[in-house]
Amino acid sequence: MSKQGVNLDEIFDRYHSPKVAIFKERETLRATYVPASLPHREKEIQSLANILGPIMRGESPSNAFLYGKPGSGKTVVSKYVINFLYSKAESVGIDFQFAMINCQMVDTAYRVYAALCDSINVEVPITGLPTDKIVSLFSENLDKEKVQLIIVLDEIDLLMKKDTKTLYGLTRINTDLINAKVSIIGITNNVQFKETIDARIRSTLTEQEIVFPPYTTPQLRDILNERAKTGFADGVIDNSAIERAAALAASEHGDARRALDLIRVAGEVAEAAQEDKVTSDHVKRASLAIETDTVAEVLISLPIHSKCVLLAISILDTNRMKDKKSKDMVTTGEVYKEYARACRNLHLDELTQRRVGDLINELDVLGMIRASVVSKGRYGRTRVISLAVQPIEIHKALQKDPRIEEILPPITNYM
Ligand code: ADP
Ligand code: MG
Repeated sequence: MSKQGVNLDEIFDRYHSPKVAIFKERETLRATYVPASLPHREKEIQSLANILGPIMRGESPSNAFLYGKPGSGKTVVSKYVINFLYSKAESVGIDFQFAMINCQMVDTAYRVYAALCDSINVEVPITGLPTDKIVSLFSENLDKEKVQLIIVLDEIDLLMKKDTKTLYGLTRINTDLINAKVSIIGITNNVQFKETIDARIRSTLTEQEIVFPPYTTPQLRDILNERAKTGFADGVIDNSAIERAAALAASEHGDARRALDLIRVAGEVAEAAQEDKVTSDHVKRASLAIETDTVAEVLISLPIHSKCVLLAISILDTNRMKDKKSKDMVTTGEVYKEYARACRNLHLDELTQRRVGDLINELDVLGMIRASVVSKGRYGRTRVISLAVQPIEIHKALQKDPRIEEILPPITNYM
């Protein structure tokens, strides 16, 4: 027993040998796990399998482009099909290699080519190489070994954002190869991405296309039930929990990742409370925890002035919602006044209107607020601003900054 009277022994014992086991294999509920079956993706799996099929005859597949909203199963479907193909090809003695590259992490020419070298077992000296050297190291070895290579560029839009040349180079690589062949599978969450790329890259990359539609509530229900079989102990998860998680995730562009996060965190909540069932109530608590986390993560790194601007918008937008008669939107001028008041309370010198305008833009990009320009008749155009997340979430996240905490309105203001 520790001094504070907290029985740590008991808490840790509970985790070591819980009275009730909520999870069977918790890892199978994580986003990176590839489950044995993928309900409601039969069509997409079939299409991708038909695109890659020529590998089984030693021929080179077309390039393909997969797109759809986040959490619609693009990454998991490509891993699933390629893993299957890999062992199938191996069993009949057909040789191919693949590289799964996530451009969120691998986002420069150098990193992409280093990953590609790795995929064909070519060692890159640890001291590094100039970029053009690593490019030729890759293509020379590829050709020498006569490799049939499938390159999956996941989150391809993030690579394009940083560096357009790499993708262009890769789409042209076959023209320089004599013995080897490369196929590219591009994946993106950004449905507009195709429109933003160079026509030459686009036509090569999109020889074949697969669109991943968002999941509906009943589809998410099936997916969760299937994943719960391996993730949760038998009979632990209540139907009400699955229902609620499916409905919540469906309202968020049919996101299976969010649905899984919700039931996993709900399980953790139930486990911590030593309860033996996971119910819709746990899912609700999970959803509050997840949302607060994302807002808090974004806010934590912001400078105090941005926090004051956000507080100002939060106060004004809440007041506007309360005043049912008022149709007026919050304007930048009003935000500035409220922001200046917050600064005075904190004994800070306020920034200029123009700087505050920049901070407003930043908050918009971060998804905390929505700023749009409206025409005000003869008064010209003005920017109107509203919150993009629940004011209470902003309040809880701002509370974590002890300076701001002192000037927050009472939390009941938001209820
Ligand atoms: P995307 O790449 O489209 O953003 P993912 O493929 O990463 O989405 O899927 C998000 C999460 O949801 C992953 O954990 C994945 O395993 C799971 N998932 C997606 N679709 C299904 C499905 N049909 N069945 C089971 N799990 C799925
Ligand atoms: Mg993905």
